[in-house]
This record gives sequence, structure tokens and C-alpha cells, in this order.
Amino acid sequence: IELLNTPADALETRFEEQIRPIRMLDFAGQQRLTDNLRVFISAAKMRGDALDHVLLSGPPGLGKTTLAHIIAAEMGSSIKATSGPLLDKAGNLAGLLTGLQKGDVLFIDEIHRMPPAVEEYLYSAMEDFRIDIMLDSGPSARAVQLRIEPFTLVGATTRSGLLTSPLRARFGINSRFDYYSADLLEKIIIRASGILGIGVDQDAAAEIAGRSRGTPRIANRLLRRARDFAQVADARLITRSIAMTTLDCLEIDEEGLDDMDKKIMDTIVNKFSGGPVGAASLAVSVGEEQDTIEEVYEPYLIQAGYIARTPRGRVATRRALLRFSVQESRGD
Ligand code: ATP
Repeated sequence: IELLNTPADALETRFEEQIRPIRMLDFAGQQRLTDNLRVFISAAKMRGDALDHVLLSGPPGLGKTTLAHIIAAEMGSSIKATSGPLLDKAGNLAGLLTGLQKGDVLFIDEIHRMPPAVEEYLYSAMEDFRIDIMLDSGPSARAVQLRIEPFTLVGATTRSGLLTSPLRARFGINSRFDYYSADLLEKIIIRASGILGIGVDQDAAAEIAGRSRGTPRIANRLLRRARDFAQVADARLITRSIAMTTLDCLEIDEEGLDDMDKKIMDTIVNKFSGGPVGAASLAVSVGEEQDTIEEVYEPYLIQAGYIARTPRGRVATRRALLRFSVQESRGD
């Protein structure tokens, strides 16, 4: 399998693979979404059909890739994984599609980044399980039709708003991920620590969970760092004090805001006097990619009640002004 949403380093990937839930039962949270999916999966299996195409959208690290694998496992089929930017030629997509067996899952991460020419090939594949390939060009051009096995496309996107409407319309199941509650993240941390073979006190798990921006990937990463601190302290158990040391050393505050979050808030509140500010100017000011700001930072800052989106740009909320305003008189 080509697995493409690679986090920073290979170790981190291995760690994520190790603790990734394999079946629906182990997948915590997103209750309504998973309840519905269970019904659709059972029904498709009863009919002996492939599951309808599924679109998974939401901020990074909430479990879209994990759920795509679970869907394949629950259907009893195989999964092939790729991502939008990698499908740069229609030929790549045709190769993947023709290799699918009946009922298989084709997972396309970052599906909103697929080139338009490739996307058009996908339409007939999704709708009629066929692809039309053009051979040659000019007067000798002719179309060859290839039949493919009924399959399930699972598309994941952090920006469902960027999907074209013809593509969106071809997904029968449209699921949106929400941030996780601290309680759920606590359970996820305890489960992951069991798999890693290190103990974690419940109040330590709660502390880490509360500062994980509602995101399992972050919770797991912080757990891994806490394990490092426990290891060098020769402790078998992550206690609350070890968790606190870890979080302090990583400069993660009580709400899980990290350096970039604080920089973004400081910029909107102090440099742009509370806004409105457009995404592009914000990106330049904080020195981060606009996409990353829109996909990773902003959704959480909005949900935490610090930023509001208006047609003229982002504005800081009252809560943000209270917390991030710096008095100017100091001359810094
Ligand atoms: P991206 O789109 O950036 O790839 P993602 O939404 O696909 O992110 P995943 O890679 O599926 O995120 O999940 C990140 C990690 O979080 C996984 O290693 C997995 O162990 C854990 N995780 C995600 N969702 C859950 C869940 N519901 N229960 C337990 N662990 C989870």
C-alpha cells in the first residue's frame, strides 16, 4: 500500500501505525458518523454490493485515514491508498482503478488537490464503473472504454469547500469529523499507552487530553513525548507531574495553544488591531503557508472562540482581545 499522509518522520509514522485502531469497535468518538456508517456497511454487505462512495472531511489528525482503513476492514475488502497531488496523470489513476477487485476501497487523501483533468476521469469511474481513455491525439484519436469492478471511493479532505460540485455530488455518503472532547481523548491516550506498554495515571492522561486541541494525533504525539520524559526519569509510569513537565517544556498552554497559535492571535489582535485581516496577509505576517493556517490553525482557533470569520476577513473575538491584547506604552 502506498500510504502518503506521512507525518514529520518515519518513527512518528511507525508509532501511528502501531496504535491505529483496526476495527470500528476501537474507534472512539464521532458517534453519529460511525453509527450511520455501520448501517450503510451492513446493508451493502447484505446486498452483496460495494459500499457507496464516502467523503470524509475535517481538520487533520482526527482519524480520516484511520476510518478509511476501518471501512475496508469492516467490508472485508482490500484498500489501496493514494493522495490527490500524487495523481498527477490520468494514467496513474487508471492504473489504480483497473487493479481493483470487486468491493475494494480506493482511498484518496487530500482529494481536493487532484488535478482537474484527472478528476474528470474519476466521474465515470465513480458513476458507471468505467473509464474512457483517449489513445493518440489529432485525427487518429479514439476512445477506449475500460470496465472496472464496482469499488468504493473513500475521499478525505481538510477543505471540503474546495471540492468541485460534480465531484461532491458523486459521493453518496458525506461525513464530517468534529474535534474530540477531552474525555474521549483521555480514553484514546489510555488505550495507546496500553499498546505502547507504558502506564499513565488517569490525571496525567486528563492533563494531556485537555491540551491536545481536540485532536487524537496530537494527543498521541504528546503521549509519546511524555513517555520520553518518563524514560529519562527512569519512571515506569507517566504521572501527572511528568505530564506537566512535558507540556511545560513543549510550551503548550492550558488550552493546547502552541507557538504558532499564539503568534497568529498576537498578529490579529495587536498588529491588525483585531482585524479584519485576510488569510494571505496573515500568512505573510506569521511566516506560515496560507493553506496550513486555513486547514490546521484556524479551525481550532475558531472552535476555541478566538477567531470569527467574516466576509472581510478574520476578526478577533472579545475573548481573544481580553487574552492577547498587549498594552502599547511599554515601547516594545
Ligand atoms: P490526515 O488527514 O492529516 O492524515 P487523519 O484525519 O487521516 O489525518 P489519522 O492519521 O487517521 O488522521 O489519525 C491520526 C492518529 O490518531 C492515528 O494514529 C490514530 O491512532 C489516532 N486516532 C484517530 N482517530 C482515532 C479514534 N477515533 N480513536 C482512536 N485513535 C484515533
